[in-house]
Amino acid sequence: MKYHIKANKLWDGISDTYSTNPEVFVEDSKLVEKTQPDEVIELDGLTLMPGLINSHIHLCLHADLDVVAVLNADSEAITVIKAVENARKTIMSGVTTVRDLGSHFTIAADVKAMVDSKVIAGPRIIHSGFPICMTGGHGWFFGREADGVDDCRKAAREQLKLGAGWIKMMATGGILTPGVSPECYQLNEDEMRVCCEEAHKAEKRVSTHAQGASGVKNALRAGVDTVEHGFYIDDEAIELFLENDAWLVPTLNAPTQTVQGDVPDYVMKKAQAVLDTFYERLEKAIKAGVKIGAGSDSGTPLNMHDEFYKEIVLLSKTSLGNLKALKCATSINAELLGMENQIGRIADGYCADLIAVKGDPIKDPSVLKDVAWVMKDGLIYKD
Ligand SMILES: [Zn+2]
Repeated sequence: MKYHIKANKLWDGISDTYSTNPEVFVEDSKLVEKTQPDEVIELDGLTLMPGLINSHIHLCLHADLDVVAVLNADSEAITVIKAVENARKTIMSGVTTVRDLGSHFTIAADVKAMVDSKVIAGPRIIHSGFPICMTGGHGWFFGREADGVDDCRKAAREQLKLGAGWIKMMATGGILTPGVSPECYQLNEDEMRVCCEEAHKAEKRVSTHAQGASGVKNALRAGVDTVEHGFYIDDEAIELFLENDAWLVPTLNAPTQTVQGDVPDYVMKKAQAVLDTFYERLEKAIKAGVKIGAGSDSGTPLNMHDEFYKEIVLLSKTSLGNLKALKCATSINAELLGMENQIGRIADGYCADLIAVKGDPIKDPSVLKDVAWVMKDGLIYKD
């Protein structure tokens, strides 16, 4: 289909202001300079902007209070059904691209295949297959446990074979896994280094879950591209981020939502401890110039797949401010994914991933709570 789209104003994902009375043209799946349209779409009173990119989600987690217990109790079929529903909710909320950083079985890969062939509705999915963790390490209940350099190398190769666009590793303990501490390091530096080597030689990138400073630093020295959470980063870690030009995805909404609910005691204690110091540490990283991505870790307790706007609002309240927070969720996240020439912007030749909202997202990012209209790859999902 060819569309001619008119709106009240437009933010292109990269500029510092809006343009007014914009006209955007879509031909098949791409934005083009001009075309003879089959249909004119009038988005009266709405602001047009690029589809949102959430760089950290888990399709197979369903935001339950006790995520681990539910995942263990559900059959594989039930987990799949929930993942399909989570994919639908994600696209309907205006998120047109996600990076799934850890899935039970091959669910992320399979949901991606069904979205790509248009059997079900969902965002563009880049996934990391199974997260690679040490035996008994964070996320072992849905991860690929690997020990030693050779086994880690094999684990990374298995994910690439599955079609993973990223490799995800677990460098420290985490909040949701019983019996592990977020501050203790887990996979060793040499184990992570071979995972990075395998990913990079296949021209893929590597993400690591890392909360304690020792694990963050091990992962950065091993060559990771993005660090998820980074809750206990210190000055030395910030230096390593800058030296390696690595990204931090602070996933602020994960601990923020977790402490709102009746989660298991061990989860509550770890999440509260994180919130005690993280904002201060994050500010240091932002001010030092560490590159920040927007990822909500949706699927963790009360962290809903259709509420990515909450992560954007939390980021906007740091010294990043509103505009930079919006860029993190669009053009900057596109760069994190290595897709800066395809998504995250409204420009000729880019994917036709567009959303429209009422109001002024630069002045108030919380208007993204109610996305009125959604297009991905030139197909309308919500109007
Ligand atoms: Zn996660």
